[in-house]
Amino acid sequence: MEQAIFEERRDQIHRTGEGPFELACNRDSLAGAVSQRACVFCGSRVVLYPIADALHLVHGPIGCAVYTWDIRGALSSGPELHRLSFSTDLQEKDVIFGGEKKLKAALLELIERHKPKAAFVYATCIVGIIGDDVAAVCRDVAEKTGIPVIPVQSEGFKGNKREGYTAACKAMFTLTGSGDTSDISPISINILGDFNLAGEIWIIRDYFKRMGVETVANITGDGRVDDIRRAHGAALNVVQCSGATMELAKMMQDKYGIPFIRASYLGIEDMADSLYAVAEHFKDRDPGIMERAQQVVREELSVLLPQLGQYRKDLEGKKVAIYVGGAFKAFSLIKAFRHLGMKVVLVGSQTGTKEDYEELAAICDPGTVIVDDSNPLELSKFVKELDVDLFVGGVKERPIAHKLGVGFCDHNHERKEALEGFVGMLNFAREVHASATSPIWRFVPRREAMAKAEAAKKEAI
Ligand code: SF4
Repeated sequence: MEQAIFEERRDQIHRTGEGPFELACNRDSLAGAVSQRACVFCGSRVVLYPIADALHLVHGPIGCAVYTWDIRGALSSGPELHRLSFSTDLQEKDVIFGGEKKLKAALLELIERHKPKAAFVYATCIVGIIGDDVAAVCRDVAEKTGIPVIPVQSEGFKGNKREGYTAACKAMFTLTGSGDTSDISPISINILGDFNLAGEIWIIRDYFKRMGVETVANITGDGRVDDIRRAHGAALNVVQCSGATMELAKMMQDKYGIPFIRASYLGIEDMADSLYAVAEHFKDRDPGIMERAQQVVREELSVLLPQLGQYRKDLEGKKVAIYVGGAFKAFSLIKAFRHLGMKVVLVGSQTGTKEDYEELAAICDPGTVIVDDSNPLELSKFVKELDVDLFVGGVKERPIAHKLGVGFCDHNHERKEALEGFVGMLNFAREVHASATSPIWRFVPRREAMAKAEAAKKEAI
């Protein structure tokens, strides 16, 4: 059991209550440890992917494009160009002689064929190695076609997924400041860090609309190039997934003086607090906004709370493991599970910072295992050792849960159920309930053996 943890990673694991909190994080993954983390390119791709009327061209071997093809639900209310994955399909010959000509030809052909509002060109590992000048090709094609053609410097090997987020933010930042902002309300926001995986951004926009707040740009769920071009006209940036889009909020604050606040739309308290925080920001300009925010929360809770109680009855005391991309989401999940009477015993993330983990440790129960940049071996060890009933994660954690015979809830790219907002909390409770209480887990050999041992113990007494 013990050998499931690499010596080199011991300082990236902490059990709350066991000594002072110290957790190493935000460093390169251990070579050979098969980290759950994605590469820099993938980090950029997942952030920019939902911009639905842009062309997304992956400059690299076909595998990089396939790896991220249709990677998120990211629903669109209009165009769906984002769902096509284009690649320059670099071959051995291109690696030797360079891929710039191929890139230019691909861009010109695709822009002519699909008429996108902008094009993002992602640099992958091999492009960094052979030294193609992606920026120069983009400049050339932008001049010829008249649309923004934006290089995303996301060579996979140059850091961890977090650097991909930065590259995506830099790419989007080049679009801001170029659209007309004359008709934007002074009570207006941009929603940053929601990717509309299952229609959540429509739920959140509706709450803000009922409060009298205009949403200028969704960054990036159901995103549009023209909205991002005028995003600098909004009065406030509301940042959810801080790891992915905080860089952009900071750049916009520096250049346009737009303040930002952090928000989370998961769970009851965090959803309500996010609406109140926006109302608080605008209350001097719009004295009635706080009352309207409270009205939205009252209306939604009157529907939600009576239904939540039914699920809690069965879930009380069950144990949960959480492994997510950014640590900020974990805070909200821990609070949401408390509403369902469930106990989080393991929590970790791919890209958490020191501050994130300190905050996480402060809200976790004693004995909770906190892990940074984990791998399947470690996660499996803890899921078994802590006898977890439900694992919450994404596409790479799903097989771990299923192989160990544990209920699973997808809270990442592939989910089909809206889990944000008040209505999302109800969907979340329903999904957690269905998975954690399924009778199938009784037949998992590990659980059968545990049940037999328990019965034998009782008999002996
Ligand atoms: S960019 Fe590099 S690490 Fe990322 S998918 Fe492509 S080859 Fe793999």
